[in-house]
Amino acid sequence: MQAGVKLGRIDPVVSSIVGEVPFQGPWGIGHEAVAQVTAIGDDVTGISVGDVVVVPWAMACGTCYECRLGLTAKCSTLGTTSPGKTLSAYGFGPECGTWGGMITDSLRIPFADFNLVRVPDGVDPLRVAAASDNLTDAWRSVVPPLTQRPEGKVLVIGGGGQSIGLYAAGLAVANGASRVDYLDDRDERLGVAADFGATVHKVSKNRRRSLLDSIPDRYDVVVEASSKPQGLRDALRALRPGGTCTGTGYYVDTGTKLPVMDMYATSATLNVGVSHVRPHLPALLDFIAETGFEAEKVTSLHADWDDAPQAYQAHTTKVVLHREPLPAVSLRESNSRKQR
Ligand SMILES: [Zn+2]
Repeated sequence: MQAGVKLGRIDPVVSSIVGEVPFQGPWGIGHEAVAQVTAIGDDVTGISVGDVVVVPWAMACGTCYECRLGLTAKCSTLGTTSPGKTLSAYGFGPECGTWGGMITDSLRIPFADFNLVRVPDGVDPLRVAAASDNLTDAWRSVVPPLTQRPEGKVLVIGGGGQSIGLYAAGLAVANGASRVDYLDDRDERLGVAADFGATVHKVSKNRRRSLLDSIPDRYDVVVEASSKPQGLRDALRALRPGGTCTGTGYYVDTGTKLPVMDMYATSATLNVGVSHVRPHLPALLDFIAETGFEAEKVTSLHADWDDAPQAYQAHTTKVVLHREPLPAVSLRESNSRKQR
């Protein structure tokens, strides 16, 4: 990405979000976590020491104009610099604030009463390990538009935001879509999508041409999770009249073209942008508690915390790291140390 910025192939807007030299190391990585609360600030009333909580990837105040609209990843209280381009987040480097990454022994959470959402009783934290970002990103791409068009048909173009497309396919089946087609180039991911109940279609990896001929139907809801400009164009052309396409990736190429006349002809809606996780978390977590949706099927590598460096090198669809919960006695000590 740094080379792309220098060569002008990456849109300058990218630099306004992640800095003139994007992702310049070292910085703390990790932006998805289920965590255990070890200490709370004096003003925190709704969260207790020992609670097991989902930590959204972006921090928000909960009361500013953007937060009240549900745009919590655009919180203007915690956002860093220019209006509209703000991100206050874990794991994306210093341009996104001083929060560090989530691969760490302890995190500090501002506005904890607003940001943290308890994992419901009986839900395995490993099942909702990606609720901070990717699982909820899939939820917002599929469930609200399906609510508008119950029993609609859903297409997922997978492969880029690897886990997002799979969560989306699974959630679409589990939320009553009449048909779910999933496209990808990797057998491993096609197998997971099929296991969720989607109809899968293998496509070639280094495709440059349109996939439209191999897309078997037209759809009420399309999730573009290949993060490719051509994928976005195919996704939009695959919509039924009035359908909704959500691009879950980022399309960093300067001047990415869209088929606006196709969109006009089908009255299409396109959603792009970061996921605003916090407003969707309660509904997602309740759904998983009620239905037992097996989100952990997407986890392709489950590793011990201490093996994180090796696990990251595996370059697999979804890595989830795990460590043992802290015993209650050390949580009490931790909190009393903080209060002193
Ligand atoms: Zn806010």
